[in-house]
Amino acid sequence: MKFGGTSVGSVDRIRNVARRALEAQKAGNDVVLIVSAMSGETNRLLSLANQVTPVPGAREMDVIAATGEQVSAALTALAVHHEGGKARSLLGHQVRILTDAAFSKARIRSIDATAIREALSRGEIAVVAGFQGVDDGGNITTLGRGGSDTSAVAVAAALGASACEIYTDVDGVYTTDPNVCPTARKIDRISFEEMLELASLGAKVLQIRSVEIAMKYNVPIHVRSSFSDAPGTWVVGEDQGLESVTVAGVAYDKAEARVHLVGLEDKPGVSAYLFEKISEENISVDMIIQNVSKADGNRTDVTFTLSKSDLQRSRSIIEEIARSAGAQDVRYDEDVSKVSIVGLGMRTHAGVASKMFRLLANEGINIQAISTSEIKISCLVAAKYTELAVRTLHEGFGLSKAPPSKP
Ligand code: ADP
Ligand code: ASP
Ligand code: MG
Repeated sequence: MKFGGTSVGSVDRIRNVARRALEAQKAGNDVVLIVSAMSGETNRLLSLANQVTPVPGAREMDVIAATGEQVSAALTALAVHHEGGKARSLLGHQVRILTDAAFSKARIRSIDATAIREALSRGEIAVVAGFQGVDDGGNITTLGRGGSDTSAVAVAAALGASACEIYTDVDGVYTTDPNVCPTARKIDRISFEEMLELASLGAKVLQIRSVEIAMKYNVPIHVRSSFSDAPGTWVVGEDQGLESVTVAGVAYDKAEARVHLVGLEDKPGVSAYLFEKISEENISVDMIIQNVSKADGNRTDVTFTLSKSDLQRSRSIIEEIARSAGAQDVRYDEDVSKVSIVGLGMRTHAGVASKMFRLLANEGINIQAISTSEIKISCLVAAKYTELAVRTLHEGFGLSKAPPSKP
């Protein structure tokens, strides 16, 4: 059972978590809790570090950020004691959640579940601090924003749990962000593949990496509300009686910026050079568009998107690379947003892309770039149209109405 920031956001809410865990234990389950930092806490900790120095070292940042989860784990264990139960808090290094050394975005390599199993065998509720691990050198690492989801699914996989319950401030995965679109509808079941796309396209309800692990180890995830007992959304394999829809959901991402390289030399090896250099700088690029050659035949334009935070730190590098690749000009646009539709049904239905473009056109929304994969289509639009585009696509693809389920 994983509880996110809002669900442990106050002492009362932590008591609620303790009570729910004890109920689950009384029902005959071994219970492992994974807790996030209290809501707002991780931001507060990171901003403290930023006040001390403008570019804080990554190792110390993780030492600071990990404390948020340490506090909630211990408070939750105390709350269980207060309710008359047995519990023990366990930090990342105590469970031994071993990660690589990529501070602030570490990946889990292995989990030694012995400490958790010992706690369970003593009848305790194991309360594991989410978001944190330890690298080979004994350094504290963190798993990226939203990383407690990943801690939870990884622990569930390591224990061979029958499911991983993710308790949050919405009662499931919706057809789009319910805070943006009032007619968003809760989905009963969604496939790992669709959830993976939605998460990577901006739906922050689950961290991407958590869905990857769930898919790899076939751990069903149940996303549900920490404030009610209503069933939430099951994220499961494709064969598990999913809804029969073409488009399952709409996602948006305001965190990307667009870079436009004007008048690059049009000859073999230019893109290779450009993106090799960019990747050497550890900058990940998302959408890439190269125009056809200009009329004079030896110049072309390349546009790509990357995260806004990467852009700030890498502008001068991009300009240098662009110059050596023969670009005549480099332009930036940070007022963009990526709006995407996702659905397994796109594999077999024609006309989904054209419908998406028509719906956006009807609202006068210009498309600046397009990218597609087997089960998703993304359009880059001006940031001010994000909410309008999300609602338009949500209505246009009929997502507010409940779909028929497959036999
Ligand atoms: P937690 O702190 O519990 O991990 P998060 O804030 O990380 O919670 O994730 C839950 C939030 O995800 C919701 O409050 C909602 O605003 C947002 N969200 C975005 N897209 C979706 C979606 N498709 N379905 C449900 N929630 C979504
Ligand atoms: N506390 C961390 C964050 O705010 C991890 C999490 O909540 O999942 O990103
Ligand atoms: Mg989260």
